[in-house]
Amino acid sequence: MAEVEQLLSKKVADRYLKREVLGEGTYGVVFKAIDTKTGQTVAIKKIRLGKQKEGVNFTALREIKLLKELKDENIIELIDTFPHKGNLHLVFEFMETDLEAVIRDRNIVLSPADIKSYIQMTLKGLSFCHRKWILHRDMKPNNLLIGSRGQLKLADFGLARIFGSPDRRFTHQVFARWYRAPELLFGAKQYGPGVDVWAAACIFAELLLRRPFLQGNSDIDQLGKIFAAFGTPKPSQWQDMVYLPDYVEYQYVPGQSLRTLFPMASDDALDLLSKMFTYDPKSRISAQHALEHRYFSSIPPPTEPALLPRPPPKRELNNAKVSDFNVQEGPTVLSPPRKVRRVMPHREGFDLNAHHMDKMDVRGNEIRPTAGERGEQAPTSLDFSVFGMRPPNRPTINRYILSCRHLVSLNFILCQLTLASSDLNLYVE
Ligand code: ADP
Repeated sequence: MAEVEQLLSKKVADRYLKREVLGEGTYGVVFKAIDTKTGQTVAIKKIRLGKQKEGVNFTALREIKLLKELKDENIIELIDTFPHKGNLHLVFEFMETDLEAVIRDRNIVLSPADIKSYIQMTLKGLSFCHRKWILHRDMKPNNLLIGSRGQLKLADFGLARIFGSPDRRFTHQVFARWYRAPELLFGAKQYGPGVDVWAAACIFAELLLRRPFLQGNSDIDQLGKIFAAFGTPKPSQWQDMVYLPDYVEYQYVPGQSLRTLFPMASDDALDLLSKMFTYDPKSRISAQHALEHRYFSSIPPPTEPALLPRPPPKRELNNAKVSDFNVQEGPTVLSPPRKVRRVMPHREGFDLNAHHMDKMDVRGNEIRPTAGERGEQAPTSLDFSVFGMRPPNRPTINRYILSCRHLVSLNFILCQLTLASSDLNLYVE
């Protein structure tokens, strides 16, 4: 049986002509490849299965099969999956660049119409998946890939769930921290599509500012940055907040006006941002309603994708050794213990008194500011001064080696798999 499985997997693997390494991400190495059957260029994500080479979590495989059925012009297509040499390979359509490269490129000027177009495509992809009851859970600019005709597509959809939590517990430690919604930072175990909308709002803000908007260096600090921008939420604004598992009381500070935070944005853009940045996830606007907001119908109309400014296609990393890539270990996320004291939100450059208080962690220990933090400025719209700086490392989700519990033969499952999508409940534990 094992030999048959090996032969089958080799046959599928032979179909793809492996080219250079494109990069290494959360789950493993990504290669460029040519599909010899169709001539199409593809990107193959090789997912390490740890030491348990013979198996993979059954639920993961079933959900990957579901992702293969997700077809939309703003979602990256998962063309194929196959096991090979104990690794799981996911074959995606090849994309030239990503939104992070656009935002960082100092030669690119983004007009209001360009920003509208990028955020519209992001919301279209999100809305499609939310309609199918799937959350992305790892929205960040480098997961928004851009094709040769400027079309933006959401990548890594659902992978955070599949590989980040194979035991089906809904971990709140998803999302790069800067894009994490306040309910996740407060440890919510049950959450919905609002987490993706919050992250999309952070990306919207990043397009306007040309730098990450809320750059927390711990969960506590992230919440502090959020509250310093929008004001500490009052229980009347978000009733369920105080019942969240990791809720910590923050000292009240009033919010700043969005106009101050984003001086160059239009009134419509600010109105939409305020609805996407709503604290209570129950009141936060949905991706679909965001698309219906007047921001998208007012002038200027969104730029045609093919006309959007883009960086040159990513340099091909010929002969790059995998070890040459900067493998980023995810940060250790320390959820605050149940509230014991007040935490002061930190408003850099605005509230000098708050500064010292914020440098205490929840246990009252002093936290020394990082170099990046010391040099940080209050956000301004179109902050071109950042172009000369190397952006600080983005926090990423924890790398996860697949659980060896409930392992089944990978090859066997991939050959035998029939999808019963009706029993998938992607929102609740
Ligand atoms: P992460 O897990 O950090 O989001 P990924 O594993 O998705 O990273 O990607 C690793 C690298 O491979 C990145 O440089 C990314 O741009 C590139 N990449 C991923 N998917 C594709 C694709 N479909 N086409 C082209 N490049 C891709």
